[in-house]
Amino acid sequence: GKPTSMSDIEPAKLEIHLREPLKTPPKLSELVFGENFTDHMLTIPWNVVSGWGTPRIVPYGPLALEPSTTVLQYAQTLFEGMKAYRNENDRVTLFRPDMNMKRMNASASRLALPTFDGDALLTLIKELLKVDKHWIPKEQGHSLYIRPTLIGTQRALRVTPPNEALLFVVCAPVGPYYPKGFKPVPLHGTTEFIRAAPGGTGAYKLGANYAPGVMPQKKATSEGYAQNLWLHGSEHHLTEVGTMNMFVVFKRGDTTTLVTPPLDGMILPGVTRDSVLTLARDHASGERPIPGLPSNLVIEERGVTMAEIKSSIEKRELVELFGTGTAAIISPVDRIGYLGEDIDIPVGEDGMGPLSRPFWERLVGIQRGGIESDWNVVV
Ligand code: PMP
Repeated sequence: GKPTSMSDIEPAKLEIHLREPLKTPPKLSELVFGENFTDHMLTIPWNVVSGWGTPRIVPYGPLALEPSTTVLQYAQTLFEGMKAYRNENDRVTLFRPDMNMKRMNASASRLALPTFDGDALLTLIKELLKVDKHWIPKEQGHSLYIRPTLIGTQRALRVTPPNEALLFVVCAPVGPYYPKGFKPVPLHGTTEFIRAAPGGTGAYKLGANYAPGVMPQKKATSEGYAQNLWLHGSEHHLTEVGTMNMFVVFKRGDTTTLVTPPLDGMILPGVTRDSVLTLARDHASGERPIPGLPSNLVIEERGVTMAEIKSSIEKRELVELFGTGTAAIISPVDRIGYLGEDIDIPVGEDGMGPLSRPFWERLVGIQRGGIESDWNVVV
């Protein structure tokens, strides 16, 4: 257990050091995803003796780290990805940020980095958003991407839980994922590399999970695919799509089934995944019907193999396949390259499927503030 003298994150201790002069935010048309950062960042140091230290909002800029720092040597780094939306009435909201705080703490535990009071960090993220409010775009489909990160900063070449750590939060205005309407993506059904394995770290948002995916991603791209479809085990279970969770829709007889792989330790517990499942269950129970979805919708968290995908296509039972994540919200798939052949996946005429479109409309409606929901947390 923690010694009682160690302090948790304390928002009341926040120090604010403003940049002077402020930068000019780039034109929306010039935004490149994750390359334009706001004026400020939040930093909170931690050490093993006294716990979490003074939170500071400071000008966005370089960190000073020695070459022996454990994050640089042993990838002691984890992160979150969330967005702030600004609606027409200038109300700024976060979407289910408690889920990101929970997942960040789960990642921290897995890496033997310090955990923290998620509500306290959220309070400080809101302060950062208030300071940089003019960076949050109002235009449809635009938002401010928020990147909380936690790194081990001990200066030592021992592989060990670090005695020092640094939590920081940086923000970047981002544009719509599909500026010109939905574009279904082709996937490379990847059998030669894996993203996650039983007992591994796939269920956590660790930097170390992403670096090894870059080469397979590059290979998939060079072969004309947008992303890897990560397959697992001898039966080639579908797990995730690039850096998104994955859903498949089957229609067998009168029954439409929405299927996603279970959280078995190899799947990142996505906020969008949970939101789609919750919307689907609330629709199916009749509690909150969503226009356009079949009334007899069945929801299943279970494994799906490539054999089932192929046979369901032959029997015309496959309705659609899509990825879910904070960046794209929903990303329909139109093709899977698998063991040397290309398998066509049905997509709707406008690039979205019959279920993915209603889910997308509901999620975006909530995030833009048009649909009231307790998932929106006002900043
Ligand atoms: N899987 C992976 C591997 C991811 O990196 C992400 C993005 N965080 C997701 C799924 C989707 O998660 P979320 O809906 O929380 O963005």
